[in-house]
Amino acid sequence: MNFSLTEEQDIAVDSFARFLQAEIKPIVDQYRGEKIPKKAMQKALKLLLPYGMGNGLVAEKFGGYGFDEVTIGLLFEQLAMVSPDISVMILIQMEVGMLLANAPTQIRDSHLAPLLEGDLIGCIGISEPDVGSNISEIKTHAKQDGEDWLISGEKCWISNGHYSDFIVVVSKGENGAASGLALFVVDRDMGYTSANIEKMGLNGQSTAQVFFDQVRVPAERMIAPPGQGLKTMLTLLQGSRPLVGLMAVAVAQCALNESISYAQERKQFGKVIAANQLIQARIADMSIRIEASRLLLYKALDHVHRGLRSDLQAAQAKLFATEAAVEVTRHALAIHGGNGITLEFPVQDLYRIAPILTVTEGTAEMQKLIIGRILLGVAAF
Ligand SMILES: Cc1cc2nc3c(=O)[nH]c(=O)nc-3n(C[C@H](O)[C@H](O)[C@H](O)COP(=O)(O)OP(=O)(O)OC[C@H]3O[C@@H](n4cnc5c(N)ncnc54)[C@H](O)[C@@H]3O)c2cc1C
Repeated sequence: MNFSLTEEQDIAVDSFARFLQAEIKPIVDQYRGEKIPKKAMQKALKLLLPYGMGNGLVAEKFGGYGFDEVTIGLLFEQLAMVSPDISVMILIQMEVGMLLANAPTQIRDSHLAPLLEGDLIGCIGISEPDVGSNISEIKTHAKQDGEDWLISGEKCWISNGHYSDFIVVVSKGENGAASGLALFVVDRDMGYTSANIEKMGLNGQSTAQVFFDQVRVPAERMIAPPGQGLKTMLTLLQGSRPLVGLMAVAVAQCALNESISYAQERKQFGKVIAANQLIQARIADMSIRIEASRLLLYKALDHVHRGLRSDLQAAQAKLFATEAAVEVTRHALAIHGGNGITLEFPVQDLYRIAPILTVTEGTAEMQKLIIGRILLGVAAF
């Protein structure tokens, strides 16, 4: 076991953290409290690409940087500390890149190459108004019409949805004997539309509904045939769930940093509140949850990197880290007293982001059920 970073990782994290303060934080500050417009989001994306954020997970032979998952995690955690919103956009770009790297050459040329250059923003459409945890019950359907497919349905909660130039959409496909979930790459100009959803947090980026009304899609846009789409998505989630967990770590770490500074300055009863044992107990609890989350998450990413089956580790780590962030941000709010609930202090923002992370890419309950299924050998869902 080696818990140290390599020299390269140390240097990469350090220089990336400095770059984030110099180049990305000004964009974040400019749009604080607003949705970051697509142009500014794309500017951030292009600035981040030289650090592997957006292109780092795709192998070099396909035009990416081919970084290992642990290094990506280290950099991603830094980014999420500066901007959880931009980190969502980057996470989705990386996930789309992984899907397209396994697509036919034609799609790699037309979509993966510009995605990795930051010229196209992609998104992934699985969830629907009536379909969340029960992914196999997807209603959006693709019907064959001559050489083309006609896609109809509605997707919900789609990160990057309103920014997107194209979507990788999961549809129920019917194609002679084969049926089941298929994946299609659909361009916005083929006819899908989108509308943003306002949430309790993470409103700097786009979470959107996406609508398909008989959208005509050529056959070569199918990147997983009926029956293969679900497996492809579930494999992708093994690598991406730990990154959602690292967003939770970043949120929690910011809450801890804010709480330490506040406790060292705020005076009550003639002394700084940091000198109270009950405040110290909160700080200790927060720090332990964050550190334990990190260890679980980097272990999961190491599993993914080594090509091992990682669904158990990913679910354990994502569940623990996201629930830890909810607890840590609750402590942070308490340490800040009345100031904590004012918009002037950042902890209320962090407190509103943390629960969102327990839902996205599979709820806390579903992570428990995945863990239970693997350990007990019987599915309870
Ligand atoms: C910010 C954000 C971004 C997202 N981005 C994307 C995206 O880019 N693409 C995409 O496709 N989706 C995205 N999602 C959707 C996300 O994956 C779903 O919200 C999630 O899977 C839960 O689905 P649901 O909201 O329909 O909840 P439901 O499945 O309806 O669940 C409701 C509640 O019931 C519980 N529950 C459900 N089934 C069981 C069971 N068998 N046993 C016990 N409890 C159960 C759940 O845990 C939850 O507490 C995003 C969501 C959010 C909030």
